Amino acid sequence: MTIAALADLRNARRLVIKVGSALLVQDGKPRAQWLATLAAEIADMRRNTEIIVVSSGAIALGAAKLGLAKGGRGSLADAQASASVGQVELARLWSDALEAHTITAAQMLVTLGDLEDRRRYLNASAPLARLLDAGAIPVVNENDSVATEEIRFGDNDRLAARVAQAAGAEAVVLLSDVDGLYDRDPREPGATLVERVDGVTPDIIAMAGDGSSSGLGSGGMIAKLQAARIAERAGIALAIVNGTQERPLARAIEKGIGTLFVPQGAEGARKA
Ligand code: GLU
Repeated sequence: MTIAALADLRNARRLVIKVGSALLVQDGKPRAQWLATLAAEIADMRRNTEIIVVSSGAIALGAAKLGLAKGGRGSLADAQASASVGQVELARLWSDALEAHTITAAQMLVTLGDLEDRRRYLNASAPLARLLDAGAIPVVNENDSVATEEIRFGDNDRLAARVAQAAGAEAVVLLSDVDGLYDRDPREPGATLVERVDGVTPDIIAMAGDGSSSGLGSGGMIAKLQAARIAERAGIALAIVNGTQERPLARAIEKGIGTLFVPQGAEGARKA
């Protein structure tokens, strides 16, 4: 089906939901309560939509545990060490949250090469499909404990778009800490939420400014626009919606609050 409005997301056959560090981690502690409410929404949606989660948070959680400065982002070695420690906790959090709805969580750690190199890309598509068939929810993150700068995505926004492509998903939802893309810095008076984008043009990119609203993740609005570009060329819809609100998926779908990037390319999702 074609996704031309946020409301259409409820009919997606396969959907990737990306959860950022700022939503999952606060002062180094997991926001387990919030995650429980998201898991309930996911369990609900899953009745007619296959869901893949892309979750950040490993570096933020691990840095707090190891007591490393700058949220574990002071050096590559710190980020790798933090990710190694935090990924264990992140997987447990998701497993507990989904298990409460008798859903099995599956951890998949991938690198840039796994999703951009054609041969290895298929190595990621097959297990994603198999996990979904078997009724599990894949929870994907970048394998930050071994990734170095040259082979890193660096942000899970672009990773989510690539995962969607690998999985043949129809749409990606990036849960953010803002309502979506604004036509200028959202702190400026008169800033207006852009509800629909037909093609990430230079004018659209200019709206993002330097874009980051929280210090925790690595994404910011620019990374989200890069993700939108990957998605639109692959024929995949991408939405930026506010994850800080209660029942964020329903809010986006029912009230239409968020930014939807409509697919542009005829390329389609790459088939296995
Ligand atoms: N993969 C990183 C983590 O789990 C986060 C990347 C991002 O901030 O998007 O901490």
